Amino acid sequence: MKNHFDMSLEDMKSYGYKIVDLIAEHWNSIQTKKPFAEPKTRDDLDKIFLEAAPEQPTEANKVLDFIVENVLPNSTYTMHPKFYSFVPGPSNFISTMADTLATGFNIFSGGWLVSSAAAELEIVTINWLLKMFNFPIKQGGGIFTSGGSMANLTALVTARRIKCGDDFSKAVIYLSDQAHSSNIKAIRILGFKKEQIRIIPTDFEFRIGINKLKNAIAKDKLEGLQPFCFIANAGTTNTGTVDPLHEIADICEDENIWLHVDGAYGGAAILAKKGQRMLRGIERADSLTVDPHKWFFQPYEIGCLLVKDASWLSGTFSEKPEYLRDVEGNESEINFYDYGVQLTRRLRALKFYTSIQTYGLAAFRDAVTYNIELTEKVEEHLRNSKVWEVVSPATLAVINFRYHPINENLEEKVIDELNQKISQRVMETREAVFVTTILNKQIVLRMCLINPKTTFEDVFDTLTNCEQYGKEILNSLKTT
Ligand SMILES: *Cc1c(COP(=O)(O)O)cnc(C)c1O
Repeated sequence: MKNHFDMSLEDMKSYGYKIVDLIAEHWNSIQTKKPFAEPKTRDDLDKIFLEAAPEQPTEANKVLDFIVENVLPNSTYTMHPKFYSFVPGPSNFISTMADTLATGFNIFSGGWLVSSAAAELEIVTINWLLKMFNFPIKQGGGIFTSGGSMANLTALVTARRIKCGDDFSKAVIYLSDQAHSSNIKAIRILGFKKEQIRIIPTDFEFRIGINKLKNAIAKDKLEGLQPFCFIANAGTTNTGTVDPLHEIADICEDENIWLHVDGAYGGAAILAKKGQRMLRGIERADSLTVDPHKWFFQPYEIGCLLVKDASWLSGTFSEKPEYLRDVEGNESEINFYDYGVQLTRRLRALKFYTSIQTYGLAAFRDAVTYNIELTEKVEEHLRNSKVWEVVSPATLAVINFRYHPINENLEEKVIDELNQKISQRVMETREAVFVTTILNKQIVLRMCLINPKTTFEDVFDTLTNCEQYGKEILNSLKTT
């Protein structure tokens, strides 16, 4: 048989260089592009893409050109400096290339015997993270996952295994009404019933109500149930809020409850002095989710779960099937397939390792500090304005506010409509990605400023446009 997959060295190089050129040029010119892809319907895209899988080959460059023309421009650039919404994905170029290298060599990152250096890199980088968060290096451990959702799921499986064993019929899990949706998703995947979940209301600053948590635990114990896990927020996605971690840790210690801290968004703030202060107590978690593809500036996909005791992971996830018997090593030589869900895993540690080696940790500290300070500067600007009202202050690079001119006497309903429409107008221009969220039943505009490329001028520019839109929309509302 002719091996159709073979290419000559020259062909591989010229094809590969073309892709590297595309990536480098994108990084170099991102500022000149619009962050938001033109909205297309399923019908629009079916017309471009839908066809049966072709039996016959097409010239490689022709397929690539088609992708460059139709896939890349129909994607929103979360790494764009004016992508302010959700959680931006600023990424970095070195990691982008390292990830490409890991793919290029198709390095299997499941077991020590197959790729010992891959496992070693994961051990070393996980140790860097353990140290950052003041977790015990010797006893502690962790694993890189596809993202924060998978890290949270891995944590909750572990918590249940360690605290409940096989019988979790009486187990109860607690989380705040600001917890990320991936936590509820994980709880459902684990098969908990609705009656086993307690959503604890937050206070006016979006922190968990400690008293409400204590009451819920006490009531459940009286009913013979087993409180086994609490999920605390270290930087909520909505407002950047950090729950009172020391107070929560005290309760969890007293009640023998597993403390899982979801730091998928805010964990990386530990790199900045101010973040360290805000995250005080995070070192008391039993398990901690962080998400390097967010604020550690890594490309998708890399999430991470850290635990106080690595044996909790191996005790939960190791199975010893007969076909893996030849690759069992000694205990210090970790098989990461024993630490989580995946057997076959890509080498995620490589990008993390390469970028920190290349740029140095200080570059990351500077970037995170810059992001936090930029958001505070934006808050100051908004507070000095007669048209903007800050709804939730700059917290770990997230700020929520709304257009609400002080000299206008507007009903809540009108303010909601006004802000919704301002966001729509921005999105129609595609000059920025800037959407709303809901806080305390109000529609508010939210900015998450974790891109080191984002300047104050970028934000100022967007806000100035919004003020103009606000004025126009308000006038049109008055005349109708
Ligand atoms: C983003 C996020 C998650 C989910 O992480 P993914 O990487 O998107 O799977 C979980 N928790 C919080 C607080 C987040 O911000």
